[in-house]
Amino acid sequence: MRDISDILTHYGEDRKRYFSAVSPPIIQTSNFVFDSIEEFRMNVLNEEHAHVYTRGNNPTVEILCKKLAALEHTEKALVTSSGAAAIACAVTAQVAAGDHVVCVRKPYSWTHRLISELLSRFGVTVTYVDGRNTEEIEYAFDEKTTLLYLESPNSHTFELQDLEACASLAKDHGITTVIDNSYASPYYQNPADFGIDIVVHSGTKYINGHSDVVNGVICGSAESISRIFHGPYMTYGVNISPHDAWLIIRGMRTLQIRMERSSNTALKLINFLNDHSKVERIIYPYLPESDQYDLAQKQMRGCGGLFTTILKANKKEDIIRFCHKLKRFLMAVSWGGHESLIMPSVVFHDVPSKEDSLVPWNYVRFYIGLESYEYLKQDLESALACL
Ligand SMILES: *Cc1c(COP(=O)(O)O)cnc(C)c1O
Repeated sequence: MRDISDILTHYGEDRKRYFSAVSPPIIQTSNFVFDSIEEFRMNVLNEEHAHVYTRGNNPTVEILCKKLAALEHTEKALVTSSGAAAIACAVTAQVAAGDHVVCVRKPYSWTHRLISELLSRFGVTVTYVDGRNTEEIEYAFDEKTTLLYLESPNSHTFELQDLEACASLAKDHGITTVIDNSYASPYYQNPADFGIDIVVHSGTKYINGHSDVVNGVICGSAESISRIFHGPYMTYGVNISPHDAWLIIRGMRTLQIRMERSSNTALKLINFLNDHSKVERIIYPYLPESDQYDLAQKQMRGCGGLFTTILKANKKEDIIRFCHKLKRFLMAVSWGGHESLIMPSVVFHDVPSKEDSLVPWNYVRFYIGLESYEYLKQDLESALACL
């Protein structure tokens, strides 16, 4: 297995091809030219690996794909214009009218939309299961099931699935497994090591890590990536621009140190919050009192900077006052960047179109960025005092 620091710093960068430059060039072009019909034909026939048109393959994007495949311990990777696009490509490559999908409950909101609303228009059915219970997953399989969709840990409540058990169960039934690995990042979890077929990411989060590029990642075997490339990837046209690929390569250089910094500060803040009288409970798989602590230790190497705090509050107004009092935690969606964030679930209460994904109003999701522990703790202390 390749050293992770080598992947982030050097791997995939053939510097002799571009004047021995340390930083790769941004090949900002839409198309590539040929000298002869033979050469043109040969490249078109091999569009996935040759350079024909940037909707397919581009040399700057290719460097990024090589690094991502190495990070996830898979043969190949594709990068897409968003995490949602990566999920849509991975899922739709796997289903046809009449097929059945088994999906963990409370997946990322737009994954839920894709599977429940968009796919249902094309005759695909779904069963949502409690992913913590492998027996419930097996019970949901029927002869029409072609896809098991996992998100471990899942959004909001961070429930885990036993990846090794799920992969082996799905293989027994001839079912493909797809996992959203955004929460752990390839730095802390590699689902392919447990036999999961296709790994997707919102690269917008930790992978790029600087809150300035929206992108997605799909990792898998050469065969499965090729099927996705020639199918949904090329037809939907979800490539990223060479410039964005270059920004992600640059952002990824520090993946290791960002992940460690974010995790370490998160753990200290979780300990502080856990002892606080205004906090009812913290949801974080790496807390020893978590129901799935042993499983988390088995299949993850760390947990990152994202957790949910359940606050003791009598009414929504208390939570709103707490959120407004925080000054150093910014209020926003997303996570994985340099800046610490809160996402209070109270935002989505009383919003009709969001009712399906509701978690209780006293849940506040925290993301811990690169600021110092003391700086963030002071902010929390003063905001908690107003509860
Ligand atoms: C953000 C997110 C996505 C969607 O990614 P985009 O890059 O925003 O399209 C998918 N899954 C999870 C778990 C996410 O947090």
